[in-house]
Amino acid sequence: MSRTAEPWRGGRVTSRAWCVLAPNPGPMTLDGTNTWVLGEPGSGVAVVVDPGPDDQAHLDAVHERVHAVDAEVALVLLTHHHPDHAAGAAAFAAQAGAPLRAPTDGTALTVGGLRLEVLATPGHTADSVCFWLPDDAAILTGDTVLGRGTSVVAHPDGRLADYLASLARLHERSADAALLLPGHGPVLDDPAGALAAYREHRAQRLAQVEAAIAAGADGVDAVVAVVYADVDRALWPAAARSVAAQLEYLNARGA
Ligand SMILES: [Zn+2]
Repeated sequence: MSRTAEPWRGGRVTSRAWCVLAPNPGPMTLDGTNTWVLGEPGSGVAVVVDPGPDDQAHLDAVHERVHAVDAEVALVLLTHHHPDHAAGAAAFAAQAGAPLRAPTDGTALTVGGLRLEVLATPGHTADSVCFWLPDDAAILTGDTVLGRGTSVVAHPDGRLADYLASLARLHERSADAALLLPGHGPVLDDPAGALAAYREHRAQRLAQVEAAIAAGADGVDAVVAVVYADVDRALWPAAARSVAAQLEYLNARGA
């Protein structure tokens, strides 16, 4: 796995990106959700990506971060609809008097001089997107790539064929990137290495699932028990969704 870049927890990460860590740690959310505050220095406006859970203290902390750089919120964006990223978004946007948008693939945004490009990256969920921040050579990856461990293909909303294509797309884009700013966990400073490791991990898991089926495992739970035997059982429900996605993928491929 790639090395991590510091600082990250609740601090300035690039000249245009600050992280505000939400107080919702857990097996799926790692240290908590990373809410990203983006802005061109001195512009007086900020873009907030993934306001996070519906937790007023956290939403207040995000507002404070925006005001600390003498900015007002001009736009609120989401990487995907999961509640740990989005549940507080409508309230946050309303409080800020800013629009909440879910932009589509290829959309190029310029907000107070800050440039962002939307990359559709379905797979974790059908609606997952990443944001390319060209002037900092950084990609905000949401839950498509995490700062630690691996992501979940949240079947049936998320689909493995989509996820593999999205990882390939991000891997290609990562040639120009210096940083990945994930939705959970630390910032990654070797984007190409992280994407290569993610693709390798997916290929390994798929081979393990195929081997488990060949050895007689029948159905999602049986496959999970074999393939995820060494993984904390608290993660098995999430693993079951990834296995369901893999079985669907293999069936569609005619394996
Ligand atoms: Zn998610």
